[in-house]
Amino acid sequence: MARYIGASCRLCRKEGVKLFLKGNRCVTEKCALDRRSYKPGLHGQQRRKLSDFGLQLREKQKAKTIYGVLEKQFRNYFKKAERSRDVTGEALLQFLERRLDNAVFRCCFAPSRPQARQMVGHGFIMVNEKKVNRPSYLVSKGDTIKVNAEKDQFKIVSERMQDLKERGIPGWINVDEKLLTAKIDRPPKKEDVGFPIQVQLIVELYSK
Ligand code: SF4
Repeated sequence: MARYIGASCRLCRKEGVKLFLKGNRCVTEKCALDRRSYKPGLHGQQRRKLSDFGLQLREKQKAKTIYGVLEKQFRNYFKKAERSRDVTGEALLQFLERRLDNAVFRCCFAPSRPQARQMVGHGFIMVNEKKVNRPSYLVSKGDTIKVNAEKDQFKIVSERMQDLKERGIPGWINVDEKLLTAKIDRPPKKEDVGFPIQVQLIVELYSK
């Protein structure tokens, strides 16, 4: 269950876009990218034109950062996507979206993917009535996700959800706000991804 433990805001600044890794902080004036909209490091304010390879690499790094996946696992998803019957890029996005930590985030049970990952790791999430503490677990059509928390914690998640649901719940998940449960109605599609990822660039990079 390896994960990146460095400074999150640095990653947004590196990619030059908000990756929403810190929940509510990302939409306040405290956002590091709003305050320092240049790349981190000594030469961060220098302008550099990226090569085709550079563009492909940055797109891949951006997708990895958004979903909190390291290189080895990301490449494994790509290999599985290549072997699937679907278009490779769309299958890759589908694998990433189906991760349990992402599904919990998309259900609006957590303000950010890292916080959703923590909820899963700490045993607050059940899938089909069984506790699952593996963030990389892939949810499938027909699965039910449930917040498994004591009364106080349940209330906190429930209240927090009222603010979070403004960001929208994708069509592949059907959420019951009162019970804090969700059902996977269908596999996610490319248009359900809540972030513009040019997946073709990633496919080109790995196909070299
Ligand atoms: Fe990125 Fe959020 Fe940090 Fe802003 S506050 S730089 S969006 S992680």
